[in-house]
Amino acid sequence: MASKAAARGKSHALQLRRWIYNFMNSGALPTHRYGSFTTSALGDEDFAQAIHLHLLEISGRGEYIRALDVVKFVSSEEMQHYLGGKVTISERTARRWLNEMEWRYGKILKGMYIDGHERADVVQYRIAFLERWLEYERRMQIFDRDGKVVRDPKLTVKPGEVEQRLVLYTHDESTFYANDRRKTKWSHKDEPCKPQPKGEGESLMVADFLSPEFGRLKHGEEAAREARVLFRAGTRRDGWFDGDNIIEQAELAMDVFEQRHPFCQMLAMYDNATTHLRRPPDGLTAYKMVLNPKREWFPKKAGVRMRDGTLPGDVRQPLYFPDDHETMPGWFKGMRQILKERGKWRPKMLAECEKFKCEEGKINCCARRTLFNEPDFAAQRSHLEEVFAARGHICDFYPKFHCELNFIEQYWGDAKRMYRMTEATTGTSEMEQNVLHCLDSVSSERILRFANRSARFMDAYRKGLTGPQAAWANRKYHGHRVLPEKIMQELEKM
Ligand SMILES: [Zn+2]
Repeated sequence: MASKAAARGKSHALQLRRWIYNFMNSGALPTHRYGSFTTSALGDEDFAQAIHLHLLEISGRGEYIRALDVVKFVSSEEMQHYLGGKVTISERTARRWLNEMEWRYGKILKGMYIDGHERADVVQYRIAFLERWLEYERRMQIFDRDGKVVRDPKLTVKPGEVEQRLVLYTHDESTFYANDRRKTKWSHKDEPCKPQPKGEGESLMVADFLSPEFGRLKHGEEAAREARVLFRAGTRRDGWFDGDNIIEQAELAMDVFEQRHPFCQMLAMYDNATTHLRRPPDGLTAYKMVLNPKREWFPKKAGVRMRDGTLPGDVRQPLYFPDDHETMPGWFKGMRQILKERGKWRPKMLAECEKFKCEEGKINCCARRTLFNEPDFAAQRSHLEEVFAARGHICDFYPKFHCELNFIEQYWGDAKRMYRMTEATTGTSEMEQNVLHCLDSVSSERILRFANRSARFMDAYRKGLTGPQAAWANRKYHGHRVLPEKIMQELEKM
């Protein structure tokens, strides 16, 4: 027990155990009070998601979300029960919350929030994503909410030819705080974690992979090897959990996966955040590229050259002059030379249109835009996708703003509710033990339930529902893995 590890009293351990037992059996949420409710509540993934989904649902009726919508929702019976009653927030707090949620929710315009969830480019991505997902699911084992296998993939394509089973592991990071055990604010996932001001207490970031049926990605007795990484954000500590850490964790995850699931292929799902979408240091990109030849030009890290381009017919195009070049040995060629070699250079071509705001639909107006649209440049994948592909696995990204599709969010939410029940700790290791224990207390039944909830959302989108409709349907058909076929007709009647 966490409380044992933390050297807590017996009664506390008993209370915690009783509570967890109750929670697992009834799924009922214990009511709790936040120490400083208005600043801490958004750190709870479940609470934040409840608001997000509610806003999504009501945004279907109008176009915008207002601060007052949040105030009303918090005072609703359902939320009052969840929050332990008699909690009200001001419009000012609601506005602050909306600002903090912007990265998941959408753009702010004159005090009103527009649903980013249904933005044209996001919807387009979602459609393509769901098509890929359908193909993934074909090779996945699917479980119902009782853990019974409802579909086993037929992996024999032709005699003697067997496809690999695909095993889903979803990734995410979450931060726990020592003092009040909370996140102070939702930060954009794109930003590095900011150091916490004094008084917040220590923070511990957990990055992990979770599977619907296998739980955490680990292998061996007592999780001898595991993909989970703990990270103490702050200057005196481990630094930031950045691009390199993310790649390192991905390699570790594949090591563990290959031990645990030999002969299977891993599907690693990540949030659509820029830190996850970064190109490899040598990746092809026209961004920041110089027009003229330049000595010692590197795209990202000093000393790391951009890889060769690939021309039709699989012909390689080095982007640097050879080392025995007479005047520019080993120099970077620059966009002009690169395009000349591709037969795409036009006299008087600009390096880029003003502020790179090219005329819409133009693909070869300036050098940068032209290179940008070259097939090899356009096909450059993220570093994560490359490292997974290099070992025969798959990495994919959820659509932006669709936190409801990443079921690990609810796992964090569950663990945090438990964590809040534990007593405050004084030392770093005590806190760590506490956090880990709470994470491990989330049962596999709960995890499967979370995964099925996300599957239900995917099903809703696949059936053509919009975000607001999906939020409604998910509430109505709570407990089902797929929605009724006639859901669209039902919606039309509303
Ligand atoms: Zn241009």
